Amino acid sequence: MGNVAGSAVDERAALLGYERLEGAIPVVHPPGFGERAAKARDLLEDGAASLSEILDVETPVLEALLVADVNWDRAPRENERSYPPGLPYFTRAATPPTLVLPETLSAAFRPRTNATGTLIVWHELAHAFLLGEPVPRTPAWLREYLPQALSDAAARRTGLPLEEHLQEIDRDPGFTVRSFGGRADAEDQMSFQNLLLVLGAAALEEFGEDFLRALARALWEETDIVREERAEELLAGSLGPGGRRWLASRVEF
Ligand SMILES: [Zn+2]
Repeated sequence: MGNVAGSAVDERAALLGYERLEGAIPVVHPPGFGERAAKARDLLEDGAASLSEILDVETPVLEALLVADVNWDRAPRENERSYPPGLPYFTRAATPPTLVLPETLSAAFRPRTNATGTLIVWHELAHAFLLGEPVPRTPAWLREYLPQALSDAAARRTGLPLEEHLQEIDRDPGFTVRSFGGRADAEDQMSFQNLLLVLGAAALEEFGEDFLRALARALWEETDIVREERAEELLAGSLGPGGRRWLASRVEF
């Protein structure tokens, strides 16, 4: 098999001797990682099927790159310097755009339950779906809320139990999703994401999953930077009647 011209991932994979597992989202992986790659492929396929239905869009053209810890600094990325180890991310620095999945997840990810790894992969997959169309700049809470709520929704659809995971989350870390400052340590970042996960699950319980499509569409239609007030309006509007009152009642918000 020859090289696929223009594929940064293929070039890099060739460089590292990585192998390729075909699928709806192919998984490029180190030799000896076949079993993990197959698991990742199935997980991505399940997630993509759910997200595609929820958002009513096709699965974008993507690859996943499972990276051995020793190769982390060679993974494709936007910046010159390598990213902190163990944090999965979505990058358009490769062709096709790529979900980079580390061999070992960062210890910063909390809580650790049967759902942790799956939710993290689906979160990044959701970013890939959302970035299939131009997305305006938004407050951090709105940018991260959709992937968190979408991974909640994919879990509900596929029957992945989340009760234990949600129960272990601290609902009062000393800030809300809107008051969270941004430049924070890994622990606060995790608490921020976890609040969004709780808020996502609660909204799904109350309003069903249709608001996710409405919110994604509303975002794709925005042409200007979405500021705080507009962001709240978009979320409340997507939830539908009673959305604003419900949001005001949520301690995470
Ligand atoms: Zn994210």
